[in-house]
Amino acid sequence: MKRTGRCNECGGTDIRTTTVDAGGGYAPDLLPRTHSWWKTGKLEVYVCCTCGYFQFFVPVDALDEVAQSEKFETLNES
Ligand SMILES: [Zn+2]
Repeated sequence: MKRTGRCNECGGTDIRTTTVDAGGGYAPDLLPRTHSWWKTGKLEVYVCCTCGYFQFFVPVDALDEVAQSEKFETLNES
């Protein structure tokens, strides 16, 4: 969706995006150990305005922190 500009579910092209807080503090932290305790991680949200399907993406500039975080396990060893 992010790369193709097209909805994975319905094929629609009316895709909207914004950036939201990834939680922490009193809310679940979706990006643990990828940011300082005094600030929250960010997630990009992509919503299909045709069918409502949505996806989260970690911003590219935060991917190194996810890769370094011991809170994230590696699924496929490279
Ligand atoms: Zn859709």
